[in-house]
Amino acid sequence: MQVISDPRQLRATLRQMANKRIGFVPTMGAFHGGHVSLFHKARAENDVVVVSAYVNPTQFGLGEDYKTYPRNVDRDRTIAEEEGIDILFTPSDKDVYPAGQPVAWVRIEALEAKLCGAYRPGHFRGVATVVAKLLNMVQPDKAYFGEKDYQQLIIIEQMAKDLCFGAEIVRVPISRETDGLAMSSRNVYLSPEERKAAAVLYRALLEGRNAAQRGEKTPEGMSRAMEAELAKEPLCKPQYIGVYDACNLDQLSGRAGGCVLLAVAANFGNTRLIDNLVLRLS
Ligand code: AMP
Repeated sequence: MQVISDPRQLRATLRQMANKRIGFVPTMGAFHGGHVSLFHKARAENDVVVVSAYVNPTQFGLGEDYKTYPRNVDRDRTIAEEEGIDILFTPSDKDVYPAGQPVAWVRIEALEAKLCGAYRPGHFRGVATVVAKLLNMVQPDKAYFGEKDYQQLIIIEQMAKDLCFGAEIVRVPISRETDGLAMSSRNVYLSPEERKAAAVLYRALLEGRNAAQRGEKTPEGMSRAMEAELAKEPLCKPQYIGVYDACNLDQLSGRAGGCVLLAVAANFGNTRLIDNLVLRLS
């Protein structure tokens, strides 16, 4: 495995692989099983796999955890090597933002203010901008994103389509711990009590799905079922929970049908976690 920091060196290396299929997995490092599932899919579908590990400052808001975000370069390097990654790309802030704060931002206005965007202003502008930069640096055939960050995935898909990026955006299902908690780099912040409590997020999503399967047709009824489950866990401080159109992220009301997204965000102590479940309703 090569570890490359300089984007020019990365381009020069990839240019020599012109007729190979290049798969790309952008990450913020601190690898866990969720990342590894993306690596496996990329490894299975490509000749060369590039993984980037870069904690992007522009997607963190004031008072968020940019400074304390888990960073463990040596461990990441070992995992990437074990997983058969060809290139671990670790650019510096200067490489990604040569002029400091960017003047050109990528904004997907119709999607960025919904769900998490309402609580994290500027977050998705930072995400879309850094992913655009990374896609331009790597120029992959396919790029892999987890359904765990569903809104991010939809935004990246829209960006890739509207801005004619060559890469195919590939969705990867959520990897979960045995109690259902979605794997996340932020789970390490949780105290043992908070960690136990955090499994309520997935239980709440399952309650929403159960309600739909029992014949509950309204998003309001499904939301009530999810809220009731969250309310059983005193350490859980919900931010939002609801039923959304899985394509455009509009909050649904009246009667739910087609492809719907059950999504939740909540704080456990100082740690903000998100989770979701996609359902196909007739
Ligand atoms: P991050 O390092 O948190 O920015 O995540 C990098 C990529 O891994 C993103 O596409 C995430 O959606 C994806 N990812 C993170 N956690 C999971 C998970 N539990 N299951 C599947 N994908 C995940």
